[in-house]
Amino acid sequence: MMSETDLGRAWRTAVQELRRQHHGAALDMWIDDVRPLAWHDGVVRLGVPDAFVHELMSERFAQPLHAALDAACGRAVTVEFRIVGETPAAGNGHSPAALVPAPTAPLQPAPAASAPVDTSREGFSALPLNPRFTFENFVPGPSNRFPRAAAEAVAKAPARAYNPMFIYGGVGLGKTHLMQAVGHRAHQLYPAMHIAYVSGETFLHQFVTCIREDRMADFRARYRSVDLWLVDDIQFIASRAGTGTEAEFFHTFNALHATNKQIIVTSDRPPKELLFDDRLRSRFEWGLITDIKPPDEETRLAILQKRAQEEHLALSDEVLLYLAQVVRDSIRLLEGALLKVAAYASLSGETATVALARECLRDYSVGERPPALDAATIVELVARHFRLEAGDVRGKSRRADLVLARQVAMYLCREAIGSSFADIGARFERDHSTVMHSCTKVAECLARGDAAVSGALAALQSELEQQRSA
Ligand code: ADP
Ligand code: MG
Repeated sequence: MMSETDLGRAWRTAVQELRRQHHGAALDMWIDDVRPLAWHDGVVRLGVPDAFVHELMSERFAQPLHAALDAACGRAVTVEFRIVGETPAAGNGHSPAALVPAPTAPLQPAPAASAPVDTSREGFSALPLNPRFTFENFVPGPSNRFPRAAAEAVAKAPARAYNPMFIYGGVGLGKTHLMQAVGHRAHQLYPAMHIAYVSGETFLHQFVTCIREDRMADFRARYRSVDLWLVDDIQFIASRAGTGTEAEFFHTFNALHATNKQIIVTSDRPPKELLFDDRLRSRFEWGLITDIKPPDEETRLAILQKRAQEEHLALSDEVLLYLAQVVRDSIRLLEGALLKVAAYASLSGETATVALARECLRDYSVGERPPALDAATIVELVARHFRLEAGDVRGKSRRADLVLARQVAMYLCREAIGSSFADIGARFERDHSTVMHSCTKVAECLARGDAAVSGALAALQSELEQQRSA
């Protein structure tokens, strides 16, 4: 029988040796969660916090771990694992029984399948992919050449090309589109792959709900069975630095990365500007960081042509060129303008001319002197858009049209002027979780490609944009 101090010393030697051998980030990261418990009759018992670390150590790193322990103990030993729950380094609570990860099936390329990707299978509450967001619909240009090529490489060889892949760029430049294109392509190539698309906001919301309803084990087990994890707009999680949400994201990220699952993340800013814990930020640097830039005029025109064709809009090249010249910063706004001009022309029975397009875009700004952009302005705009009273939009009625307008207004406060959930809550006299729920609802509608909601938002966003630049 070895004394506790001897066992501790041998363990430290073994860990040092393992680190020296460079088995990779997964071992370096998780070995701190393993504790030596006892040594008896040539059996070393190690404590691990959960089934996940158990599997990692007893399967993936069994051989080097064993060899290092033999050497450190000066004799051949047998290694036993015991799940002991929390270790201080692990950071948050586990329910080991529910954590047994799904076996990782080797990925076999398959003939192309045309079924739509349903990322919500097996009760997994991820969002469905927008069927329009494919590589085929993604117009290439100098502004997106590199991220596009990298995304195609990732789709072809998930977890082998770049992992994680971090895409950042301004609002409406195609981050979500590109990320979902990877999902579509990977689904075609590997139909058995479990793909989960989730926005940072939805992740946050799911996490909070699961905590409240005491369903964390469920939450974890589901995320850990994912092969391709698409996390959109991660800045919403970064804004929760130091909270359980961030810790849970970190944990999920580590668990998936260590088991060789592909992770793709988008953000409106580069990792170094996110308020994340340093450890998490440095994880992003293991992979590939790439940005989408604002498109040049030629690309803007090509996007308009493609979109007009897709939607069967008969607009002249002259009108499209005018739009490409005027709307510069966001492809989402560009598309909003396109749809607006087309709708205007078809409603009025006129053919769309540059004059009509100009008129139509001017029409976006309201009032003589635009009021400053604040939550009150947003509520006003939303109310006008839906032909409702601002007071009712802020009010308590559960009437469906009012609820929708209210949710859209909250979402815009968040997206367009960056209000915090708390500020929005104060303005609408709702609690924090209601605001979060509303924002998530709208984000879900957008991700689903809900025409009513995305149409309203496109119009409202361009209106806000006009006010901003006026
Ligand atoms: P982000 O997530 O960066 O805010 P999205 O991915 O939602 O932006 O893109 C906004 C809109 O612009 C979407 O309708 C998308 O299809 C379109 N879009 C963006 N980039 C391209 C592109 N290169 N080709 C075609 N459409 C694009
Ligand atoms: Mg997006």
